[in-house]
Amino acid sequence: MKTIGLIGGMSWDSTAVYYRLVNDGVRRRLGGLHSARCLIWSFDFAEIEQLQRADRWDDAAERMIDAARRLERGGADFVMICTNTMHRMAGDVQAAIDIPLLHIADPTAARIRADGLRRVGLLGTAFTMEQDFYRGRLTERHGLDVLVPDADDRRTVHRVIYEELVRGRVLPDSRRAYRAVIERLRRRGARAIILGCTEIMLLIGPDDSPVPLYDTTALHAEAAVTMSLGQTFPDEG
Ligand code: GLU
Repeated sequence: MKTIGLIGGMSWDSTAVYYRLVNDGVRRRLGGLHSARCLIWSFDFAEIEQLQRADRWDDAAERMIDAARRLERGGADFVMICTNTMHRMAGDVQAAIDIPLLHIADPTAARIRADGLRRVGLLGTAFTMEQDFYRGRLTERHGLDVLVPDADDRRTVHRVIYEELVRGRVLPDSRRAYRAVIERLRRRGARAIILGCTEIMLLIGPDDSPVPLYDTTALHAEAAVTMSLGQTFPDEG
């Protein structure tokens, strides 16, 4: 079994879910007493959020590279960044280490394509919804047609993430607001919704959406289990 290196703490609420999911996945596939071999580097998210807000992405990239190198030195066979937003610097991180980085967008897009879907709505932080690092990968590498909410809805989605979800707050009003955003994306033609922020699954689930939800946390963790066990992705047969 290969050792998974998780770059987490962004926020720890979702990293805790990742930890459970990789262990569940290994147990499900190997049975018995098997559990995931993994290392976690967990940031103080306040430091990271400050860099994001100040537009200091180069400094944030240095932190991600430092974490990835620590995991590599510690014996990880591959690393994963446990947040969509910080994939902004995925290329820099990969270039700085000698082990693979498992990109969160790839297993997500692979599953959507395997399900025969192309036109998807994307929910995430403003960085993820508005910048090209994430949408670009989905469209150029995977051929998806990506819709994002309008400006007001993007503000709502972003605010709920930073003021509530990464602080461990899950509020019914926000669930209602997300449901309305999803419905508007559906009316514009979205056949599925990507939960492109690793905490959104804390707020909404399949019952909140008229179209299928693709939870990046679950799909990323599942791909890590597959990679750790040297199995092929289910999508690849
Ligand atoms: N976990 C979130 C994401 O997947 C947001 C926190 C962050 O900015 O890293 O984008």
